[in-house]
Parts: sequence; C-alpha cells; structure tokens
Amino acid sequence: MTRWKSDRFAGWGRTAPALARAARPERQAELDAAFASAREFGATLPRGNGRSYGDAAQVTDGALILGTRLDRFISFDATTNLLVAEPGVTFGDILTAFLPRGLAAPVSPGTMYATLGGALAADAHGKNHDRAGSFGAHVEWIDLLIANGETLRCSRDQNADLFRATIGGMGLTGFVRRLALRLASASPFVRVKESRIDDLDEFFEEFAASRDSATFTVGWVDALAKGGRLGRGIFETAEYAPDAAQRPPGLRAPKPIPFDLPGFALSAPIVRGFNELYWRRVPEAGRDGIRALDRFLYPLDSLADWNRLYGKRGFHQFQAVVPDGTARDAVRDMLEKIAATGNASFLAVLKTLGGEGHGLLSFPMRGVTLALDIPNVAGADELLSSLEFVARDAGGRIYLAKDSHQSAATFRATYPRLAEFESVLAEFDPEKRFESDLSRRLGIRGRPA
Ligand SMILES: Cc1cc2nc3c(=O)[nH]c(=O)nc-3n(C[C@H](O)[C@H](O)[C@H](O)COP(=O)(O)OP(=O)(O)OC[C@H]3O[C@@H](n4cnc5c(N)ncnc54)[C@H](O)[C@@H]3O)c2cc1C
Repeated sequence: MTRWKSDRFAGWGRTAPALARAARPERQAELDAAFASAREFGATLPRGNGRSYGDAAQVTDGALILGTRLDRFISFDATTNLLVAEPGVTFGDILTAFLPRGLAAPVSPGTMYATLGGALAADAHGKNHDRAGSFGAHVEWIDLLIANGETLRCSRDQNADLFRATIGGMGLTGFVRRLALRLASASPFVRVKESRIDDLDEFFEEFAASRDSATFTVGWVDALAKGGRLGRGIFETAEYAPDAAQRPPGLRAPKPIPFDLPGFALSAPIVRGFNELYWRRVPEAGRDGIRALDRFLYPLDSLADWNRLYGKRGFHQFQAVVPDGTARDAVRDMLEKIAATGNASFLAVLKTLGGEGHGLLSFPMRGVTLALDIPNVAGADELLSSLEFVARDAGGRIYLAKDSHQSAATFRATYPRLAEFESVLAEFDPEKRFESDLSRRLGIRGRPA
C-alpha cells in the first residue's frame, strides 16, 4: 500500500510553494502501485531533487511521485560505456562511482544534486554545450511509465515521438523509470584558464575565439556593473588534465546554511562589493591552474542550501537564450535593465550554446545564454517581464527548468515545436493525468491558469 504524505513543495527559488501529496517509492513495483493509487488525487507529476528553480516540479493539490529513492545503477557495459540506471541517480553518484574509472556524465548541469530523471526532463546543458550538445543527445533509450499505466521502451527508433517529447518535456509525458546513458571519458582534474574581462564586447570576442575549440567555456558577469564597465566579468575555459599530479580529493562535503538569511544580507551595496572582489580575484594578466573536476563543474555546491541566502521570500532565476545574430544587442539590453534596477544579484552566468536539442521542448539553440538570480523583492515582476520581452523580441526563449514567471503568450511564441509536443500528449495522455504548476501557468494543453 502506498503511503502518501501531504506537504508543501517548491522549486529551488522558493517563491511559490504548493500543497500536494507525495509518495516516495523505493522499488519499481512500488512505483506502479503509487501511480495507480495517485489517480484518486487528480493530476500527477514526477519529481526529482527539486533543483529546478520555478514551478516545474510541483503540482498544486495533485500527487507528486518522488524518484529520489529509485537510485540504483542497473548495469554498465565497459566496452560501450553504456550505463543503465534508475532516474534518482544523481550526477554526484556518477562522479563518485565512475571518475576513478576515467568516466563521467557527458553533459552535466551546474549542480551534482540534480537527478538523471530531472536532467532528461529538462534536457540539461553544461559548460560544454557547444561541443557535446545537451543531456538527451547522450541517452540511448528510456523506459517510460505512461498515463495508462503501461511502460514503453522509447528511443530514436522505438516510440520515437514519445522519446522526443520526453527529452526536455518537464515530466509531462510520464515517469522515466530507467534510462541508458552513454558516459564519456573524463579525468579528476581540469586545467582552467581564467581571464579578466573589462566589458561585454571583450566577452563576445573571447567566446568567438574559443567556443568551438575549448572543451568547457563559461563566463561570470558582474550584473550590477554599468556604463563602460557593463558586462565586465571573468571568462573561463577548461581542458581535462589527465597528467595532473594531484591525488583525487573525493567529493567535497558542502558547508550547510542552516537558517534563512535576513533580507538586508543581500542588499545592492553588499552584492556590488562581493562582485568587485570576485572580479579582482583574477589578476589583470589572467592565470591558469589545476582544479578538481567537481569544483569546476559544481562551484555552487560548496554551500549546501545556498538558496536560503535569499531569505524567506526566495528568488527567481531568469535564464534566456538568444540567437548569435541578435545576442550582443540583446544581452547588452538585458544587462542595462538589470543594472538600472540595482535588484541585487550575484554574478550572472554567460555561456554559448551550440544548437537545438533533440527534444520537442528543448531549450538550447545556437546562441548565447544569460542566467542570473533575481531576489523576489518589489519590482522583480516588472524586471522579469522586461527581460522576457527582450529575449522574445530577439528570437530567443526562456528555460523552463528555471522559469517561474514568463507569460503563456511568450512561451507559445518561442517554442516552435510546442504543437507537436501537445499532440503527443493528446495521444498518450488524453485524460491529462500529468500536469504541473508550470504546465498550468503556461497553458500547455489548456487555457493558462
Ligand atoms: C545550482 C544549480 C545549477 C544548475 N545549473 C544548470 C545548468 O548548468 N544547466 C542546466 O541545464 N540546468 C541547470 N540547473 C537546473 C537543473 O539541471 C534542472 O532543473 C534539473 O531538472 C534538476 O533536476 P532535479 O532532479 O532536481 O529535478 P526536479 O527539479 O525535481 O524536476 C525537474 C523536472 O523534471 C521532471 N522529472 C523529475 N524526475 C523525473 C522522472 N523520473 N521522469 C520524468 N520527469 C521527471 C519533473 O517533473 C520536473 O518537471 C541548475 C540548478 C541548480 C540548482
């Protein structure tokens, strides 16, 4: 018998918690039982580790099925590097088990706490998107529990429409109960080259010079800098360093933040000071050095529960991608709007993306993506709307795994394969069993809530 517990669930930004029932199956058979009994509660949704920022992993008054205890490695083929795993396995689990064998996930989001199920549902991208594409590109097949209770094997050749809808489909096609992921060669250390960047134009020059040759690239932008300093930051490229002489340190234990910080802790002057120090950390001439892979891939994980830094009101994360052709003007426009409000945000992230993902709702396109936290204070709504319009008008789109705010109209105008996605849902889930607060807000298969 499934045990259901009522609780409040929110995204990582903690802006809009929702009351729902939740079950946490530990075995595959318990998953089937939970899904069958969820029917009496209305809408159902899979949830991973809750690292999506907005309302993608919550469903008000519905039933959440948590995948975090379905976290076993099922098989590994050392000749093809194909790992079959349950969806609750995290990127940290993979690093711990496979890095000693010289392997890692081929694409990894910026937190090791994300699950494989969550990364597939978001079609997550990493700091190597230009060359490696997004997560779904490396998944060979999935076993998907669909609305009628059946489980279907889906791949590029089998149930291909469901496969493409599930990659980036934000949990709306069913529950991924197993997946086959091809791991990639890796080493425990990377050689990181850091350069200080004085303004946005310099950032674009650096990206153009290295996006197709470096293994990893990422930019950190001081989103509060204005005028001639607009777009200043730090640009990093990294290559694996298999000959690095250090001993693998093992994964770090994060330092916890056991309480919510008061609102003043993140006032604009404090964040401005932090950003200045962070920028000056890298000498004017740049520097390079060896860094442990996990520190490079997951820098924010060194503070556990860092989302509490924003206090009880939480924060929004804004992430948009804009195509190369409009990127320079659009990113400038966004940074000007952010700096003008002074709505304090720690360093923003600027990355290049290499092309479209395999999923019908995949976020990436060839272009530039800007991501930053926006504290949930007065004026945040207006700022988010103005950034949304810049992204839309520049031919870009907003990332669903981060979104808590965009309008249904913008979403519909910017995801060109949405109609195909909705027709797959209509075929496999005619009763609309799978829903989320995000799908309701964006009007996926119905009028927006
Ligand atoms: C610090 C930080 C850094 C990040 N960096 C990046 C980044 O660099 N690139 C990037 O792309 N993303 C990034 N993210 C976002 C993150 O990768 C995604 O939100 C991912 O979906 C989180 O996985 P999760 O297990 O926490 O899923 P959840 O947040 O719990 O769920 C996310 C979605 O996945 C669905 N889902 C979960 N499990 C299943 C399942 N078994 N079957 C079907 N659907 C399922 C849910 O329904 C939901 O729609 C970052 C997040 C954080 C907090």
